[in-house]
Amino acid sequence: ETIANQIAAGEVVERPVSVVKELVENSLDAGAQRISVELTQGGITGIKVVDNGCGMSAQDAALCFQRHATSKIRRPEDLNRINTLGFRGEALPSIAAVARVTLTTRTAGELGGTAVRIEAGQIKEIAAVGCPVGTTVEVTDLFFNTPARRKFLKSVAAETGQISDLLAKLALARPDVRFELRSGNRILFVSPGSGSLKDAAAVILGAANLNSMLEVNCQGELLAVKGLISKPVLTRASRQYQNFFINGRYIRSSLFSNVLQQAYENQIPGGRFPVAVLHLTIDPAQVDVNVHPTKMEVRLAREKEVLDELTAALIKPLQSTGA
Ligand code: ADP
Ligand code: MG
Repeated sequence: ETIANQIAAGEVVERPVSVVKELVENSLDAGAQRISVELTQGGITGIKVVDNGCGMSAQDAALCFQRHATSKIRRPEDLNRINTLGFRGEALPSIAAVARVTLTTRTAGELGGTAVRIEAGQIKEIAAVGCPVGTTVEVTDLFFNTPARRKFLKSVAAETGQISDLLAKLALARPDVRFELRSGNRILFVSPGSGSLKDAAAVILGAANLNSMLEVNCQGELLAVKGLISKPVLTRASRQYQNFFINGRYIRSSLFSNVLQQAYENQIPGGRFPVAVLHLTIDPAQVDVNVHPTKMEVRLAREKEVLDELTAALIKPLQSTGA
């Protein structure tokens, strides 16, 4: 079991940003409205994620480090309409296999909470503790027991940068959630959590740039598209500033980027890349996210129709600028 966990860990936990991604996704799945992430040395020596989600019972807190102990898939049919971010039950055991972890949690229904301390996959301590409703996970000394993997870590600045990029995307994915990122005692970033995409975008893209964005809001037959794309005055030299979300999940998609670029170039000739924050809503049964543990790429059942609807949604605001 320990070896299986270390192998799974290799897939799930490559670097600090992968730990943060899994922990924050768990917080989102737990319905948290506030999530704070605190890094020590770019997450290499410490990552602390605090959420105000639903928390876990004492029993679940002890179980959640077992492999495939997901609470998110109960029946085989659930696999066809996954709307939570995690569903494999691999993240916590994988992280715990390669670090020291303390999880502290309480549900609203219980007066006291539970703390579980685990090191290199071995539970060291389970104790009753006082704590607020929600969950705190502290991960220290990542890869302390797998020195070969520790060697692949980059500089503190590089690891911090990746985590900051990830949280920026999550803040755009979930404008209703307040995200806070700290490094040491510096606050790197706070998203307001007001529920408005524009408010989140003001923090991430810079308030001044908001005036250069066009609103997209279109309901098609298969696809609803909402978000912001830039006017021709605000372009970038790379696709890095194009953010696509399907059903609230950030994805990397050259398909969508190509559609965006095409729609843009048809209206505005030139080789630069628009900035975009686009939320796509599709029937979950039409989307396959079960491609890779990092779950960034997706497959679409009716790809051509979906892409055509996306094109139509994007062309509308671009045409209205008269560009
Ligand atoms: P998965 O997310 O794929 O279910 P994980 O290993 O990430 O698997 O988590 C295992 C289980 O632990 C989850 O299904 C959930 O029930 C519980 N859990 C993990 N993190 C949290 C959290 N922040 N708040 C509440 N429950 C959590
Ligand atoms: Mg998870």
